[in-house]
Amino acid sequence: MYSLISLITLHESAKHNYDSIMLHPDSQCGCFCCLKKFKASEVKEFTHDYVNTEVGKRLVGHTAICPMCEIDSVLCSIDVPDLSYDMFKQMQDYWFNA
Ligand SMILES: [Zn+2]
Repeated sequence: MYSLISLITLHESAKHNYDSIMLHPDSQCGCFCCLKKFKASEVKEFTHDYVNTEVGKRLVGHTAICPMCEIDSVLCSIDVPDLSYDMFKQMQDYWFNA
């Protein structure tokens, strides 16, 4: 079992992962929404993530969109070396099946 803290930390690793994925096209990726696995090179779309600041919106990063289900719930083995089924299943239960 993963603790809630570690699930949240893993969830953070799914954000702003553009560099990990684009710079390592042969790395393994997985999605904690649909539980599919795929290569980083299969990811074709990224979100544009903004934060609101005093001077307006500022771009803070890009987050991979799953090529299978089109949800931004992709983990890359560059950020999380051990992409186990148990981990993805627990993340899916917490964020999508609650
Ligand atoms: Zn997916």
